[in-house]
Amino acid sequence: MLKEKCGVYAAKCNGEVFSKLYWGSLAQNHRGHESYGFLTYYNGLRRYVDIGLIPRIEREEFQRWMNLLPGEMGIAHVRYGTSGRRDAGLKYAQPIVSSNGRRKLGIAYNGNIVNIGWLKRELKIKDEVCDSELLCKYLNIKDNIIEQIENCMELVEGAYSVVGLSSNGDLFAFRDPHGIRPLIFGKSEDAIAIASESAALDINNIKLEGEIEPGELVIISKDEMERIKIVKDNRAFCGFEFAYFSRPDSIINGRFVYRIREELGRRLGKRYEDYVRKADIIISIPETADDAAYGLHEETGLRWERALRRHRFVTHRAFIMGPRERASIIDMKVNIANSLKGKKVIIVEDSIVRGDTTKTIVSKLKRAGAEKIFVFITFPKITHPCFYGIDMATFSELIGFSMSNEDIAKAIGADAVCYQEYEDFIDIIGGNLCMACVTGNYPTKTAQDIANRAKLIPNNKLRIYEYFEV
Ligand code: SF4
Repeated sequence: MLKEKCGVYAAKCNGEVFSKLYWGSLAQNHRGHESYGFLTYYNGLRRYVDIGLIPRIEREEFQRWMNLLPGEMGIAHVRYGTSGRRDAGLKYAQPIVSSNGRRKLGIAYNGNIVNIGWLKRELKIKDEVCDSELLCKYLNIKDNIIEQIENCMELVEGAYSVVGLSSNGDLFAFRDPHGIRPLIFGKSEDAIAIASESAALDINNIKLEGEIEPGELVIISKDEMERIKIVKDNRAFCGFEFAYFSRPDSIINGRFVYRIREELGRRLGKRYEDYVRKADIIISIPETADDAAYGLHEETGLRWERALRRHRFVTHRAFIMGPRERASIIDMKVNIANSLKGKKVIIVEDSIVRGDTTKTIVSKLKRAGAEKIFVFITFPKITHPCFYGIDMATFSELIGFSMSNEDIAKAIGADAVCYQEYEDFIDIIGGNLCMACVTGNYPTKTAQDIANRAKLIPNNKLRIYEYFEV
């Protein structure tokens, strides 16, 4: 089970900004469950962070929150840790704030820095710190924020979609030259907002206007948004956003994500006709594979049964557990709503990373009597780790790194595993994507060097962030 690394939000409005930040972050809570936070500007910076999910705030409590976080501009964050200790809780919660003695600067950030060793040396920091703290200190070196963001885009390698707010009241956002993680903006009569996903604009009735382009900085002042192109657009947007991370009702590149997922399902139906002919029903892993299952059903005419259901209130997090506990919590999260006795089942899943989630589900289907199980995967085979902010384990933990499709099927107890072909995926989504976890071709140099070196170490169990220290 993969974890997305953070959602960011920024807004400037005529009136109190807190409600925009709150609802926008709530709409992006799927991107990070570990902690959340808000930072607003009102005669200086006001910050509130806490661990866990964004809380439910009742109508009568809103005023108290607005008093705590007053002002017309602010930024917000939901976090799943990319580096730093995951059990550190509040210490790494964002927005994170640093001071250079003349000014305070707060940022909320989505992504991962690859050349973190260089950054630590540059800042003369030896202790364990997370990449957001380093990035915040780095951006605060110079008082001229534009100049320092130019330096950042030239020298800091990795994925970073950043929103920031200073104690001088500067509100800004920028995206790394490859635009690996999403960042979009929208406007309404009374507000300008920047978010990771368009669904977080919709909830505030803010109309999506476009994306912050790779290598672009925007500065928001009064009701205006100034766009400054810092470096050339070298786009390599994360392909995995389409298959798994983004909300189905978000728009990326002008298309609803759920429509793309339907198409991914349809293409699997065309590509694997032999297995479709042998199958009786389609089942999907809720909820990220539901749209693809619908597309597959439309394409093939096979019945789609929503026979797997989630226990809505079992929200325990599997990532803090070992493989055995993780399998057992996944087993508890999903229930089978039907007998599958004697059925030949296509189970649609968005991806296979370690294989333990799919294995647990396959064994559940077998216990419910399924005779044959063909696993259809909407994303191509993941063979390499992600260095850009997605928790894709180590080389040794990636089941697709060393195993053939047949061996993977055997390992997870299925009769066949059918991955989306890389060419089909590109054909559906379009080009200019990062697909490094599939192809091993990373859009940035240090990441490529690290991957090439790490691949040569047998049974390499180094976590991704440990490579960066080297
Ligand atoms: S390596 Fe994979 S998960 Fe990471 S940014 Fe690239 S496509 Fe996305």
